Amino acid sequence: MHEDLEKILFTREQIMQRIGELAGEISRDYEGRELILVTVLKGAVFFLTHLAQSLSIPVRLDFLSIASFSPGRTLPGVVRINKDLDHDIQHRDVMLVEDIVDTGLTLRYLLNVLSGRQPSSLVVCTFLDKAPRRLVDIPVKYRCFEIPDRFVVGFGLDYNQRYRTLPCVGILKSQIYQGK
Ligand code: 5GP
Repeated sequence: MHEDLEKILFTREQIMQRIGELAGEISRDYEGRELILVTVLKGAVFFLTHLAQSLSIPVRLDFLSIASFSPGRTLPGVVRINKDLDHDIQHRDVMLVEDIVDTGLTLRYLLNVLSGRQPSSLVVCTFLDKAPRRLVDIPVKYRCFEIPDRFVVGFGLDYNQRYRTLPCVGILKSQIYQGK
């Protein structure tokens, strides 16, 4: 285990198994259709690549990059799109792929933006769901894991751009992470 982790929540093996199960469910639900996977950079990319490879339906990939609107996120949920999608999603089946849903405020903003572009369908698929912290009711259709109200890193999730490449998801020691 990495020395900065307090505890491992999910090993790489557990993550891979769960992604496989989820991919099976999604492939069944979208049988005969093509899905646009819209991924929020950068944290969700690790989840996306494994999920996309495990799907048996045709998919197209597109990416969004966002930043909090003001330094220190004094206005939670107010985000700015730094990089928009490359393709039109009108009349397409779209799945928004997220690394983690916490308060849900970021997702609410993104869903508003994307639904305004009139996709035929729009659902959310998140790697981690920190349900106890939810402030707004967001429809999360697919989730890999529910997690407790702790700050986690690994498998794409960072703290100050570190720990993304850890093969597991773990709780960061509180001496390292303060204030979230
Ligand atoms: P929300 O708007 O749902 O509160 O914010 C979600 C964003 O907060 C995520 O995309 C992620 O950047 C950050 N976040 C929330 N909880 C965690 C966590 O436990 N670990 C990490 N690394 N980021 C988190």
